[in-house]
Amino acid sequence: MTARQPGAPMPPALRALIHSTTTHPARTIACPHCHAPAGRPCTLRTTSRHLPEPHPQRVSNWAQAAACPECQVEPKTPCHDAGRPLRYVHDRRTTEAKETAA
Ligand SMILES: [Zn+2]
Ligand SMILES: [Zn+2]
Repeated sequence: MTARQPGAPMPPALRALIHSTTTHPARTIACPHCHAPAGRPCTLRTTSRHLPEPHPQRVSNWAQAAACPECQVEPKTPCHDAGRPLRYVHDRRTTEAKETAA
């Protein structure tokens, strides 16, 4: 933890980061990793502490609702790399899903 001066303005980049993480659109679905229900933040299983970012698997599942601009798969279909299934969807798919949700 870094001590901040009382009344010191929060850097805009940090403010934007906090805003974007607290309203992450992937939270509209349940998390397959930590089993956080839809609308709830992800938690660390060991301590029940809330995570600032959803688990990658949750974001990946959420982004799968749309087709992938990278490997051209249909919605609800996992991404692949030359026929080899990927654990997480392509970054471009996540980026486009975020832009669509924003
Ligand atoms: Zn989670
Ligand atoms: Zn893809």
